[in-house]
Amino acid sequence: MLNGTTAEIKERSALKINPAKTCQPIGAMYASLGIHGCMPHSHGSQGCCSYHRSHLTRHFKDPVIATTSSFTEGSSVFGGMANLIQALENIFTIYKPEIVAVHTTCLSEVIGDDIPTMIKKAVEEGKVPKDKVRVIHANTPSFVGSHVTGFSNMVTAMIKYLSVKTGETRDQINVIPGYIDASDMRELKRLAAALGVKIVMFPDTSDVLDSPQTGVYEMYPKGGATVEQIASAGDSVATVALGHFGSHPSAIALDEKCNVPSVLLELPIGITNTDKYIDALRSCANAEVPASIVQERGRLLDVVGDMSQYFFGKRVAVFGDPDQVIALTQFLVELDMQPVYVITGSQGNHFESRVHEILKDHTPNAKIKQASDLFELHQWIKQEGVDLLIGNTYGKYIARAENIPFVRFGFPILDRISHRVFPSVGYQGALRLIDKMIDAMFDKKDRECSEEYFELVQ
Ligand code: SF4
Repeated sequence: MLNGTTAEIKERSALKINPAKTCQPIGAMYASLGIHGCMPHSHGSQGCCSYHRSHLTRHFKDPVIATTSSFTEGSSVFGGMANLIQALENIFTIYKPEIVAVHTTCLSEVIGDDIPTMIKKAVEEGKVPKDKVRVIHANTPSFVGSHVTGFSNMVTAMIKYLSVKTGETRDQINVIPGYIDASDMRELKRLAAALGVKIVMFPDTSDVLDSPQTGVYEMYPKGGATVEQIASAGDSVATVALGHFGSHPSAIALDEKCNVPSVLLELPIGITNTDKYIDALRSCANAEVPASIVQERGRLLDVVGDMSQYFFGKRVAVFGDPDQVIALTQFLVELDMQPVYVITGSQGNHFESRVHEILKDHTPNAKIKQASDLFELHQWIKQEGVDLLIGNTYGKYIARAENIPFVRFGFPILDRISHRVFPSVGYQGALRLIDKMIDAMFDKKDRECSEEYFELVQ
């Protein structure tokens, strides 16, 4: 419980308290699950792998598979080559994946394990099938970056190892979705299908981490981008990359490798950012926007108009992953709310400059900070309160201590389930966010207002 948090802020340079981020391999593991038939492999000790698996499992409420190099004291001193080669042999013999995606942990990074050399040796020794590329890797040292960096590094590894340009252009658009939920990826695909645009989305965790209960366990569910689809990304007309931190580096890498031009956007959260996603697909594929999407957007605008009196001027604190927070801040401005405190735990100057750009005319006194933590956010709230708090499950401690309406948004959400099935992106996702914000604020009002203000109709 955080009832003891004080309003007085003391400068801290090295210490983080309740950081608003987690470690790189979690993002790499999540991205790997978006390849069909892929076994994520954690090159380090068991504890890291267990933590990463359980964190993802708790968020998605679905079993998350991964293997580990199971470092012991010996491998920690002499390196993990023998462990990785043995692991690859076991994985292909026992679990028969299409592909293995290796990511590192702090320990193997500190030792300086040379993963490409180890993979090469495993292939030469016949421990890995030689028919095609069967092992990819990304370096994910957790003493820099965050889970979003790890996600981005693994998506870039997919391009580096798998994507090729054959010279024959395919009538398809790549979509790199960023670190969003499986339900969000499903929604992005639905919008593309409504436009009649053929896309290759990678990674794609829909039908992997939101797969239906059929009574039969499948180690590799039907979802995920296939290796062949990721290979074909090098022949696509264009790439639409969503999120500066999670996707843009990968799109740039694909352009450099295969000369596929990219449209770099923010996550399609809210009205403007969804409009940009739709427009990018429309222009890249020369498609028409169907009436069904125009109507969907119109229904959202209708609700925004109906509810505007309840949103206007409300002070909001937002924390979470940088791409999510940037896009959500834009949406809050569209709703005429006041995002007064906006933080991320991840590093990167782009976060502060972009949020400042969004807020400079609307909420000029907003406090905006990268590499921040929840303790600092709580202290700001102590000094001057807010009407709404938006962020992942870890925010519930602040919400309880300060009696603030709280909307769960982002990663991880460990104590609710709707993110698993309902998107936050697109016009539908915006409607859902509005619904959650209104519910949270009205529930508090109904609980606490005096009788003369207790209204049947809002
Ligand atoms: S040791 Fe590093 S990789 Fe492992 S759980 Fe801790 S921060 Fe993550």
